[in-house]
Amino acid sequence: MDLLTKARLISWGRIEMPEVFRPEGPVSTAGPGAGERNVFFRSGGRRVRLSAEEGSPLKLVELEGEEVAILFKGREIARGVLERPLLHCPRQAYITVSERCIYDCKFCAVPKLSGGVKPKERVVEMVAQALDSGELEAISLTSGVERTPEEEVARVAEIVRALRRFDLPIGVSVTPARGSSKALQEAGADEIKYNVECLDPVLFGRVCPGASLDKIKAALADAAARFGRNRVFSNVIVGLGESEPSLREGIEELAEMGVLPVIRAVYPHPLRVGEVEMVRPSPERLLDLSRHLRRALDEHRLRGDAAETGCYRCTGCDLIPHRDL
Ligand code: SF4
Repeated sequence: MDLLTKARLISWGRIEMPEVFRPEGPVSTAGPGAGERNVFFRSGGRRVRLSAEEGSPLKLVELEGEEVAILFKGREIARGVLERPLLHCPRQAYITVSERCIYDCKFCAVPKLSGGVKPKERVVEMVAQALDSGELEAISLTSGVERTPEEEVARVAEIVRALRRFDLPIGVSVTPARGSSKALQEAGADEIKYNVECLDPVLFGRVCPGASLDKIKAALADAAARFGRNRVFSNVIVGLGESEPSLREGIEELAEMGVLPVIRAVYPHPLRVGEVEMVRPSPERLLDLSRHLRRALDEHRLRGDAAETGCYRCTGCDLIPHRDL
């Protein structure tokens, strides 16, 4: 799978697959495909995550042994293997603590899914089970906000403390709160992610009502000062109708702060269709933005391949600088 093919696959996002490939086990509640069935395809040192969908022009077919191929309108475009997700993604225990949220970001399925809140003991048990596979390399925690960001940070910090016993890198993605970076660092988190989601300040208020872009940026600056180089991340969603200059300048601004942006193609989740513009970016746009991101990271001496947890380590949903390009 070359870079352009991966960009195309991300842009399509969905694939038709025979029953035999349908992943078993619980449906993931994290990431863009929350609540949907996903497969992870690996080829030529690259990985991509695709959601199962009947009628997609992409089809997954079985070859000899472990090998599979991806066909586009009947023509083979990539050959590789499927990887088994451990918890949500391969080689990581990527766990959503609170599967509910008081915020209502218009592209996010979590508030609509209104799931449960996992107690600390359950998270520890899930990680212990994943460890038994012999494949576990990292722990990533994410969480909606059940009541307040402060309470959620305290809950996740407590869980991080309990997970230190596994001696694995721990990444945390939460809504920032006052003192959250200090609390999570003291608990033992190695990496942190606060998502800006939308870098267009005009659009931000519409797609993330009740949140503040400036406060998230301030929290990221604080996190970068505490956690240091290559340890702080932020999701930037592309395809919400954002202006190109605000997006490109925002990427540069984050890199200058020491933050690694994750350029994430918007996922028009069935639970959110019609609430806000959601158009999957073209492969060309994804490539162009990822090259822009790579230049910004290089300029500020940041490395995408230094990440130990989360999406920069997984690479399933994005074109990751220094790993994919
Ligand atoms: S890139 Fe991130 S959101 Fe996508 S599958 Fe991997 S860990 Fe999940």
